[in-house]
Amino acid sequence: MTKYVYNFDEGNASMRALLGGKGANLAEMTSMGLPVPSGFTISTEACMEYLATEKQLSDDMMQQIERNLDELQVRTGKSFSDDANLLLVSVRSGAAQSMPGMMDTILNLGLNDVNVERFAKLTNNPAFAYDCYRRLLQMFGNVVYEISGSYFERHLAKYKETHNIKTDQDLQVDDLKQVIEKYKEIYQQVAGKVFPQDPKQQLLEAIEAVFSSWNNERAFVYRNLNDIPHHGGTAVNVQEMVFGNSGNQSGTGVAFTRNPATGENILFGEYLLNAQGEDVVAGIRTPQTIASLEAAMPDVYAEFIRVANLLENHYGDMQDIEFTIENGKLFLLQTRNGKRTTKAAFQIAVDLVKEGKISKEDAVLKIDTKSIDQLLHPSFQVEALKEAELITEVGLPASPGAATGRIYFDAAAAARAVEAGEKVILVRQETSPEDITGMSISEAIVTSRGGMTSHAAVVARGMGVCCVVGCEQLSIDEHQKLVTYPGGELTEGTLISVDGTNGAIYLGKIETVPSEAEEAFQTIMQWSREISDLKIRMNAETVADIETGLSFEAAGIGLVRTEHMFFKEERLREMRRFIITNRKTEQDRALSQILNYQIDDFVEIFSLTQDKPVVVRLLDPPLHEFLPHQHNEQEMTKVAEQLGISSNYLAQRVMDLTEVNPMLGHRGVRLAVTYPKLYLMQAEAIIRAAAQVNATGATVKPEIMIPLVGMTEELSLLKTQIEEHLKSLLEELDTQVAYTIGTMIELPRACLIADQLVDYADFFSFGTNDLTQMTFGFSRDDAAKFINQYIGDGLMPIDPFQTLDVEGVGSLVQTATNLARQKQADFKLGVCGELGGDPKSIEFFHQIGLDYVSCSPYRIPIAQIAAAQSAIKYATIKEKLEV
Ligand code: ADP
Ligand code: MG
Ligand code: MG
Repeated sequence: MTKYVYNFDEGNASMRALLGGKGANLAEMTSMGLPVPSGFTISTEACMEYLATEKQLSDDMMQQIERNLDELQVRTGKSFSDDANLLLVSVRSGAAQSMPGMMDTILNLGLNDVNVERFAKLTNNPAFAYDCYRRLLQMFGNVVYEISGSYFERHLAKYKETHNIKTDQDLQVDDLKQVIEKYKEIYQQVAGKVFPQDPKQQLLEAIEAVFSSWNNERAFVYRNLNDIPHHGGTAVNVQEMVFGNSGNQSGTGVAFTRNPATGENILFGEYLLNAQGEDVVAGIRTPQTIASLEAAMPDVYAEFIRVANLLENHYGDMQDIEFTIENGKLFLLQTRNGKRTTKAAFQIAVDLVKEGKISKEDAVLKIDTKSIDQLLHPSFQVEALKEAELITEVGLPASPGAATGRIYFDAAAAARAVEAGEKVILVRQETSPEDITGMSISEAIVTSRGGMTSHAAVVARGMGVCCVVGCEQLSIDEHQKLVTYPGGELTEGTLISVDGTNGAIYLGKIETVPSEAEEAFQTIMQWSREISDLKIRMNAETVADIETGLSFEAAGIGLVRTEHMFFKEERLREMRRFIITNRKTEQDRALSQILNYQIDDFVEIFSLTQDKPVVVRLLDPPLHEFLPHQHNEQEMTKVAEQLGISSNYLAQRVMDLTEVNPMLGHRGVRLAVTYPKLYLMQAEAIIRAAAQVNATGATVKPEIMIPLVGMTEELSLLKTQIEEHLKSLLEELDTQVAYTIGTMIELPRACLIADQLVDYADFFSFGTNDLTQMTFGFSRDDAAKFINQYIGDGLMPIDPFQTLDVEGVGSLVQTATNLARQKQADFKLGVCGELGGDPKSIEFFHQIGLDYVSCSPYRIPIAQIAAAQSAIKYATIKEKLEV
């Protein structure tokens, strides 16, 4: 018989797949002896079974739920119908991976028309009892009967207005009774149902609703955005209620053991006195800082500090803790590894190692490679800021970054604007889970209410979207689409700039500058280099890119694309001369011009890279890419004049060179077979430049790479030609250069004959872009049109140009690797396509034993950390296998 229900003392933190993160941690805290209200967890397995069997709680599940409910009554000494010891519970969802705000929670379950009276007597506080009942009706209606919360809120607001009542706390018993009656009517009007009076029925309906919410649209979108699988299911936690809203010695709050925005090691959080549950996160009342709890309730504060430290040490990570204080006693309701900005993630990981709490490997594993881009977020130019017109500077800096965009007041309008190509900033009083999609596409999010743990703040940090919350100087009217602030008004579409790092908002656009890497980041990068055996190189040929790559300590250059160097005006002219002329002397003259340019190019590169290896790929694209566009008469005339030939002749040559399928045409090594001097010129330029830079004391290591080889004959022909040419060149220069010659592996045929190619190459570098294109037969330039549909229809899990297709393309890479290494065990292998910067692909390349991957300079940190993470995971697996 399957066990579907676990008491809190039966589980532990390692059972999150089955009990969900919330349930597993409630169990763990219970076993640590911490003050957690009693309860039980219905497993994710039960959820998936429930959803699979057309939403039926099986008899077995029902029995287990009832048995655990009975036990809960015994343990607490309370029941759903006991005058003196009334049991009320919360019903809380919790999936394996935290999905903040995605699923719903119901508090105060068990109240009904009779129990509310009992509860009033019991607590000697009727207003409190009726307020709890009111909240239950609202939450239950919302979660279980899908009655939009706004029906209830609107009625409550109207009631308060007509009765001149300012806040919820000012509602008297009679007010609350009237509101409750109206709420019951809303049930009838909107859902056509009555609120169930039987507590057990409430409980079962609530459990089923939480299970069903796994498949609601918000949850679905969130999972897609965060790569969370759809088959996990959510668990349901049923837990005895404790009351943070039972007076001024009570309260509720959320705290992080460290600052989630900066990583600073200071308890960070907020609480509200006399409040329940979601009051803090919903941003309805503005909470107080956790530090002020010390003055309000010194004992509780001291206990909280003790527990916070205990939990952080226990989990070896920064914790996000939800707590409630009931009449001066602290209760823990949740703990989890806190979401944090990337900046904070690096700081916390490094600090935890320095505090001796975790190892370097643990620290590196804590970094989410997907979020590293956020670290490299820009900030506003200091000079431009001085000129900028301030709207407000009193917002809370919830998620760092600097962004400019046009303001929109709801997710749908924002989405439409983004579709139309605009950059948008979502501006709202507060956000709710319905806004998730709109938030994810915004450059920044601004709210007027809520604190650092409000929905907007938590979600924005998770997404790495710039965010400022609690801008109290902004009065935001979402219906009128108008923001009023002390200095003026903003309407929909107004351009503003948001600084998520300090909480300021400005009118208009402000120029940004890229961020500087910080110490903690450098430390993690250093550890990652120590840990990983896979080296990270850069794909770069401009000074700026090479300098960026070197600042991230790239191990060298994995790809210099020489064609990029040909597009400067005078070079292009010579290149065109070379392609178009049919006179040998003129060809030679053009080439010797280009040679001089290329020597300068390579001197510039080698001077920067010094002793580090540099792969230079010889000319790759089809020649017609260098020619003027056939139908651009102006350009054709200009080029004809420049080259001193007739327009007709030029047109003829352009026609001759045009190909139906240029990607499969006369390009790469094929150019060199027909124009041998082209590659000889380039190889010569490389060696001459290397000799020049060597003369300044460096030891340049050029690796000359021949692209698009598919046959051994091509490679052997070219390699011999180049070697002979360079041999006499080096004799002439009377020097040595430690060069090697290798080939790019980017055709399926090359993979299959890798054992033959090895005999003629010093190294291989996998060009994954072409290899993917050639393996699938997908044109890189056109495939986007249908790949998205393929992915949407489930024909393909992921775009193979972004993440390696392990089954197909990966198998070819593996085949080539095996064939090469069987012949020569230490044969040098690398990757230089886009996939060299993708974490999942890097894991594969590391595991099959490649020497390096090469990626664009800004992706080096991601690649470096991914490589280290793979090394750590792989070492653990190997250790396990050896034991
Ligand atoms: P979420 O996953 O959205 O954070 P939770 O299940 O954690 O939802 O519930 C939200 C809040 O409701 C909690 O932080 C807590 O303040 C309150 N809550 C939940 N269960 C109880 C309980 N048994 N007693 C008192 N408050 C509770
Ligand atoms: Mg919670
Ligand atoms: Mg290629």
